[in-house]
Amino acid sequence: MSTLGGWSGCEEDAIYRLLVPLKPPRGHAFHVDMGTSTKDTPERKASLRVELQCTCMREQLAEDMLCFLHHPEKELRERQAPSLLGTLCTGPYLDTDKTSCWLQIVLKRAWAVMPQSTHCCLTVLPSGHSCNLRLTHASGSTIRIEMLFGVKQGNSYIFLS
Ligand SMILES: [Zn+2]
Repeated sequence: MSTLGGWSGCEEDAIYRLLVPLKPPRGHAFHVDMGTSTKDTPERKASLRVELQCTCMREQLAEDMLCFLHHPEKELRERQAPSLLGTLCTGPYLDTDKTSCWLQIVLKRAWAVMPQSTHCCLTVLPSGHSCNLRLTHASGSTIRIEMLFGVKQGNSYIFLS
């Protein structure tokens, strides 16, 4: 995880914006689809299309993974976690709502076992389609963290809305 850009001072909380780079897990590929701009939405929105990839070759190399494309569905269900298409996607596209929900759960669990959690409290703030957190220190000071999803394209990142 890398920080994206500074912080903006606000009377209550300092706000940090974090870029969360998304990388496709094994057996998946990501494709960025740029939407078209219209009069109502002049800003083009980027969506992430998820595609399954054949991993039969890797399977033969004794990597412990079944091919999502070529293995019988029954065996896949029994032996392997579902693909992103069956969990965090809506249709072929990565769903940022589902992804931020999942990230919030992961973060809460991870925070609970961090030594910092003894003097700092993590709160997930209600948010439509991004992941917003607040850290409250025992002293009362707070920090707000906004997490933005991005995908690497060449040397830069494209943000998902
Ligand atoms: Zn295959």
